[in-house]
Amino acid sequence: MFGRSWRIGTIWGIPVNIDSSWIWIAVLVTYSLWAQFNVEYGNIRGGTALALAVFAAALFFGSVFLHEVAHAVAARLHGIKVFGITLVVFGGFTSARSDEKGPGPAFVISAVGPLTSLALGALFWVLSVSTDASGPLSASFGYVGWVNLLMAGFNFLPGLPLDGGRMLEAAVWRISRNHELGTRIAAWSGMGLGSLLLAGGLLQAIRGDLFLGLWLAIIGMFIFQSARAAEGQIELRRRLAQATVTEVMEPPPPPVPADLSLSEALDRYLRGHEGEAFPVVDDGRVIGMLTFGSARDVGMVDPLRPVRDAVIPLTQVLTVDVSEPLEQVVARLGPGRSALVLDDGRLVGAITGGAVARWAAGRRRF
Ligand SMILES: [Zn+2]
Repeated sequence: MFGRSWRIGTIWGIPVNIDSSWIWIAVLVTYSLWAQFNVEYGNIRGGTALALAVFAAALFFGSVFLHEVAHAVAARLHGIKVFGITLVVFGGFTSARSDEKGPGPAFVISAVGPLTSLALGALFWVLSVSTDASGPLSASFGYVGWVNLLMAGFNFLPGLPLDGGRMLEAAVWRISRNHELGTRIAAWSGMGLGSLLLAGGLLQAIRGDLFLGLWLAIIGMFIFQSARAAEGQIELRRRLAQATVTEVMEPPPPPVPADLSLSEALDRYLRGHEGEAFPVVDDGRVIGMLTFGSARDVGMVDPLRPVRDAVIPLTQVLTVDVSEPLEQVVARLGPGRSALVLDDGRLVGAITGGAVARWAAGRRRF
């Protein structure tokens, strides 16, 4: 759904990204504020109107950002790793495994976002009434205050993937001691909410407010789809918890004997497979990996030296034990990486993110 994103910095080690879709909304918000200031305050000059519009837009996006920072800080305080904050066209999201420490922390991490928006709404309302009520500065504060209140109200709606949905999920999880039930109820609620927004948006569009109507419909559709995906995750989570590495692993790449000469290894294994890595086996046990690069660096000096001299040690290679739970392996693997599967030091297979995805897709039933 999103295009590329740029990393604009890190705070407390948390990467902050801006999605390319965000640029459009930033321009649109600034432009519409500028147009509004020009119409309502005919006596201020174009430059001043633009400066005010940029100022109000900065407060607006600063508020969205603080909402996400609140989620991230709460997660960190609970000892949960935060992968990053990304600002996108309809706001932002913080990516963290917020369910890791049970329903209590999950509830708090979700609640602090809209609570921050609520507090910001109150702050900007106070700023608005304490500045010259007929001036554009007061109007800017008032506008940002309203946006924050709207953001708080919207995010408190009790359906996944909204913050309120995660709070509902955590609350049901806590009361019933059943995580799955919590996710299911919050997902159903999200699908209902998405449908309502979609229907309301279409009605609004038919009645003549095309822009607002389409906007609501798009948000409704997004919520519906995310909620449905969250329900699909329940099944996947259960299967991951039960599955073993053996179900998903593929045959290992051909092992290279450690005492083979580098020139022979280049001819028999590496040439034509320059981008690949081969496991190196010594006396039945894996001691590391050999790549075209590592073999060439040593082989250039002496091509008759054995493979073991050019090996990338096992400490720098991703390996999993054949008895490790698949859930844990998937978390370690991440996208686009692969790992060797070992059984007491002996090579038995290989596992890739792609193989896990195929396994997940292949056995899903509809
Ligand atoms: Zn939030």
